[in-house]
Amino acid sequence: MEAVSVVRCQGYHPATVEKGVLEAIRFLGGWDKFVRRGDKVLVKPNLLTGAPPEKGVTTHPSLVRAVVLQIKEAGGIPMIGDSPMLSSSLIRAAEKAGIKEVADHCGARLVEFDESIEVDNPYEGTFRRFEIAKQVFDFDVIVNLPKLKTHSQMLLTLAVKNLFGCVVGRKKVQWHFKAGTDRLYFARMLVELYRTIEPQLTIVDGIVAMEGNGPQSGSLRKLGLILAGRECVALDMVITHLLGLESLLLPTTFVAREMGFAPIDIGKIKILGEELNKVAVDDFQFPSYSTMAWNIPHWLQRRLKRYLTPLPSVELSKCTLCRRCLEACPTGAVSESNSKVVINYDKCITCFCCQEACPDGSIQLRGRWLMRLMS
Ligand code: SF4
Ligand code: SF4
Repeated sequence: MEAVSVVRCQGYHPATVEKGVLEAIRFLGGWDKFVRRGDKVLVKPNLLTGAPPEKGVTTHPSLVRAVVLQIKEAGGIPMIGDSPMLSSSLIRAAEKAGIKEVADHCGARLVEFDESIEVDNPYEGTFRRFEIAKQVFDFDVIVNLPKLKTHSQMLLTLAVKNLFGCVVGRKKVQWHFKAGTDRLYFARMLVELYRTIEPQLTIVDGIVAMEGNGPQSGSLRKLGLILAGRECVALDMVITHLLGLESLLLPTTFVAREMGFAPIDIGKIKILGEELNKVAVDDFQFPSYSTMAWNIPHWLQRRLKRYLTPLPSVELSKCTLCRRCLEACPTGAVSESNSKVVINYDKCITCFCCQEACPDGSIQLRGRWLMRLMS
């Protein structure tokens, strides 16, 4: 039976987070269960982009710090690695997110994911191989550190989705292009990628989450939680349940269930620490027009996709013309004309990479008539 630990952690004071992480890992048997003396350990936060910690876009540096220090104490050699969105460098993103300071202070090297290798999918699946950052395979242990956030395309970005950062830079955009409008195809890729990388441990930063229009422009929501476990789908199921949603509404969990390895239901996951009903979250705000949160089964969503998928729309008054959305769009649907960003909806595959890349929250989702009627 998979186990997930759930502990309270009321803020980002370094001592508070250290205590929370230690407790979460103690429930799972202690650091010795995951790290042996001399192990090289990859710590993989969510470093989507260079945003300051108070924006809640990236894994908080206090959590990264606590994990790095505890790995060292267990005798491991921690290093911090990720590949931010687009062509941003890890060092620049880590500097802005407060993670470089942690790395320097704790003596953990930053590892830029800048070279891909082809890796066979060890399980039977849709994808025979993946292009993954070569650096990921230089480690004995991988510790995955997602930030709990909403995500316009995939509903939430949690344990499984965080590993998409192991795909190098713009190669991520190619996956969006391949998946097109098929959300479940993209979810299947994420699940099979997760199983190919297979981190040994995941610790989720749910201390302050992002709700609403995540993963970059949502609102902060204090949940005061750290969650940890070995198996990412089980962790994602527990979090979805805590946020008041049926776990199969998360596309990656739905696909994992189809593939036959997700727990049958939440009752089949051993919860250690807090009782779930005592830390359940009321009124968590999912992305606007996210029909996945409307309890519509996936088969019906597939049929009504054309009517139930919102469209990105630019709020010109907020736009600073940074052009990140142009770089992020896999289909070339975004362009600049007369010093304005415009979207060609004939080319749009509703992947929302433009919204994810926009640092100013200038790209919002606009519901189609059926969605406006239902909301
Ligand atoms: S316009 Fe935005 S949502 Fe549409 S394809 Fe481009 S990046 Fe994706
Ligand atoms: S990413 Fe946002 S701010 Fe930058 S050009 Fe696009 S819409 Fe404007």
